[in-house]
Amino acid sequence: GLQARLGRPGTVLLDRLRGVQRERGGITADVLTRLADEFGLPVAAVAGAASFYADFTQGCRGRRHVRVCEGTSCFASTGGEHVRDLERVLGVRRDTCASDGSVSLQAVRCLGYCYDSPAVLDGDRPATGRDLGGLLDGSVGAADGSAASLRTPPPIPYESRVDPPVVLAGLLGVEGEWEVWPAVVTGGSPERVNREIAASGLRGRGGAGFPTAKKWAMAASEPGPRYVIANGDEGDPGSYCDRLLMEQDPHRVLEGLALAAFATGAHHGLVLVRSEYPAAVHRMRAAVAEARAGGHLGRRIHGSGFDFDVEVVEGAGSYVAGEETALMHAVSGLRGDARPRPPYPTSKGFLGRPTVLNNVETLAAVPWVVRHGGAAYARLGHPDEPGTKLVCLSQLFRRPGVYEVEYGVPLRHLVQELGGGLRDGRSLRAVQVGGPLGGFLTPEQLDLPLLTRPLAQAGVPLGHASLIAFDAAVPAAAVLRHEWAFGAAESCGACTPCRVGTRRGLELAERIGEPGQAAVLAQQEPLLEVLDMASLCAFGRGVAGAVRSVTRAYADELPGPAA
Ligand code: SF4
Repeated sequence: GLQARLGRPGTVLLDRLRGVQRERGGITADVLTRLADEFGLPVAAVAGAASFYADFTQGCRGRRHVRVCEGTSCFASTGGEHVRDLERVLGVRRDTCASDGSVSLQAVRCLGYCYDSPAVLDGDRPATGRDLGGLLDGSVGAADGSAASLRTPPPIPYESRVDPPVVLAGLLGVEGEWEVWPAVVTGGSPERVNREIAASGLRGRGGAGFPTAKKWAMAASEPGPRYVIANGDEGDPGSYCDRLLMEQDPHRVLEGLALAAFATGAHHGLVLVRSEYPAAVHRMRAAVAEARAGGHLGRRIHGSGFDFDVEVVEGAGSYVAGEETALMHAVSGLRGDARPRPPYPTSKGFLGRPTVLNNVETLAAVPWVVRHGGAAYARLGHPDEPGTKLVCLSQLFRRPGVYEVEYGVPLRHLVQELGGGLRDGRSLRAVQVGGPLGGFLTPEQLDLPLLTRPLAQAGVPLGHASLIAFDAAVPAAAVLRHEWAFGAAESCGACTPCRVGTRRGLELAERIGEPGQAAVLAQQEPLLEVLDMASLCAFGRGVAGAVRSVTRAYADELPGPAA
């Protein structure tokens, strides 16, 4: 159909590449030729996509594949030592494979276990803080090809905490599944659904904060076919609530997606789940099958005239592919590059058709809003930003986990009352709010409320609103390097300011701590200006803002040229 006419491999390409990699340990030239023939495309089209995604670019994939998280919470918990320890114990460098193909190690951001850092996925099995030491007590093919049996746990003595990691203490935790959908699809009207969403003031929870009802109305006003997509590509280190929603409450996400489809007249939906979340991929696919069996998805749903079905697509390791225009490329079987907007996905999205893309957390709120009414939701939170937000607290807090809070609460409430301060008597040096494209605040700034505008005025985008605590164990120079390294690794490379600027920034950051530090920091400033003003998408601007926030929050350790 549409895919063939547009010359797009579509959602199957990533799955086909993954299948080949699993069978043969890597993606070879003959595979690309065969797939190109099959899709009727030039080899360059398939090779371009395959070479974009981190999951396919490692030379070979070992029979045992270990993914180690170097996201911000894991970094804050060990300063990055856990990655070096794993390299030593497995006998392979990060992002390489043993010569005999026995084991490979891939560094990723992030695995979404920020409440129990550091985290590793051994195959699809997670091992985090408390049990990471036991990860390698089985038999491992060593890098020299001999079968080394590591019977004792390796020396990775990171402490762990945690009891229940999730505290869904509010709206989203108390509703049943598919309670609203049957009545809406059989007797409701799309206009009424959209009216309630508009009255609720619900905005996108993924970071951009666009009004949900407005997005739906924009897509609905375009000629069909239309699509709806749940964005489960929660790539921002520090946020793990989308993973937990998809694993523990997938039907709420699907019901929200179905209501979005009904409101916009879409008959096909996608859920994009990151490959770093294998359990979420599995659980979402199982939930789709259950929803079909329960009559909630499919043709003539609950006897109505409405058809709607959902496909779960597994990503392949790209941070930028979570950006909306890049995501449309990724699910169409292309490189996950961002592109300029307009046109917005609501007019030209998946396969060039009008598409609504909503974050998983946003969709999870939709059934409650439709059931209880937009006005009830709008009474929660703050007049400027109604409703609730899931906030994730990282491992250094005494009580890490996901908390559902109303917008407008002071950050100090999150840090002290909910998080209980830092564990083991540590003291808070800085807190990163909203992920790597958010920003750092000092403990003195915690009276700021959890609201977009006041935080933006303090130079910190709210982003996904989660908090990662840093104590003094990680020096400012390492934090700065971590920020630039994130930018350099995750830039999609489509525009020069970000492609080159993030590399130059990392080079400069590596010189911090040497004599002449003030001069190095002075050279950083023009780079930040170019990134801020000339980047094609929000990523480059976000990196600039985040780096500036580090230099502000750690001003005593990173004196600039004026100091
Ligand atoms: Fe890609 Fe960075 Fe440019 Fe965005 S700003 S398009 S991520 S290179």
